[in-house]
Amino acid sequence: MYYNWKDKTNTEELKIVCNLIRNGELVIFPTETVYGIGANALDENAVGKIFIAKGRPSDNPLIVHIADRTKIDDIADEITEMEQILIDAFMPGPFTIILKRKPEVPDIVTAGLDTVAVRMPDNIIARGIIQFSGVPIAAPSANISGKPSGTSVDDIRAELEGKVSAIVDGGETQIGLESTVVKVVDEVPVILRPGKITPEDIEKVAGKVIIDSKVFEKVIEDEEVESPGMKYKHYAPETKCTLVNYENDLDQIFYLKKKIKEFSEDVVVIGFSEHKERLYLPEEKFIEIGTKNDLEKYAREIYSAIRKADKLNPKLILIEGVKREGIGIAIMNRLLRAASYDILEDKK
Ligand code: AMP
Ligand code: MG
Repeated sequence: MYYNWKDKTNTEELKIVCNLIRNGELVIFPTETVYGIGANALDENAVGKIFIAKGRPSDNPLIVHIADRTKIDDIADEITEMEQILIDAFMPGPFTIILKRKPEVPDIVTAGLDTVAVRMPDNIIARGIIQFSGVPIAAPSANISGKPSGTSVDDIRAELEGKVSAIVDGGETQIGLESTVVKVVDEVPVILRPGKITPEDIEKVAGKVIIDSKVFEKVIEDEEVESPGMKYKHYAPETKCTLVNYENDLDQIFYLKKKIKEFSEDVVVIGFSEHKERLYLPEEKFIEIGTKNDLEKYAREIYSAIRKADKLNPKLILIEGVKREGIGIAIMNRLLRAASYDILEDKK
């Protein structure tokens, strides 16, 4: 069933949706980051349906969503001082913390790990659904495993309609990139997946922060990683994809043009408005992603743009990269994976 709550949550429909969750069904709903495909986190069978719907590897654990901080104690144990500082500073928000799990959380949610990922979304629809369902909700991003995350119902429908009991439409998600995932090790926060909450934001409250080396690096097969999600192909279109990322505008245009020529113009460029005129491409081959100075907009629109480019079915998708600072760290983390680490660049 499709429910349109873009303007306002419908309370009658909210009851229906929450009953579906309680009855072990799957519901797609918006959060402030991306759309989630959710099920009762305490119901093993229900959670199993998520893995089937997404085609998600069973060793990749799920994030459990709660609507209020007091509920953390239902699923996690032995919260340390630093973990509490981070919880107080960033929850609710686009922030996920890996905590020691309670035995009540089924193995299927945590992929058998002794930790559980916890997030409290800052989105009225998500919180309404979690609160009125009365259970924590396990919810990965709403997309087939390996594809870009869904940031609007239009993007999700083709992939997942028919595999879930309800889709709740809350319009486009505000942030557009998944949450920052943090694990505290020896009382120091370690970023396993960058997001809207930046290393600087964390450092401000924690005094220290470490970015896991795998954030920008390719994981070698069978390598041990802190977060199983790091191992997998992610955010990727069907079409081959190359990132172009030069500090100097002239270089940037030069390398974009070089690639365009190499592929006899059978390309789609996802690029900055200020570069549109300079590439002399037909209108439909250039997807604008705002200006270089508006990385929030870039983050919000990138997954939709990648899907759109993929649908045009060119030989190559060229994506303009960004500086790895602020939210640019999260953007580049996703783009590198989307492009299978194929990048031309001089800036880090
Ligand atoms: P998604 O559900 O698609 O937003 O991805 C969730 C991310 O959190 C994946 O990269 C998971 O591997 C990671 N994650 C979930 N639970 C844990 C955990 N207990 N320990 C480490 N990483 C986790
Ligand atoms: Mg995902």
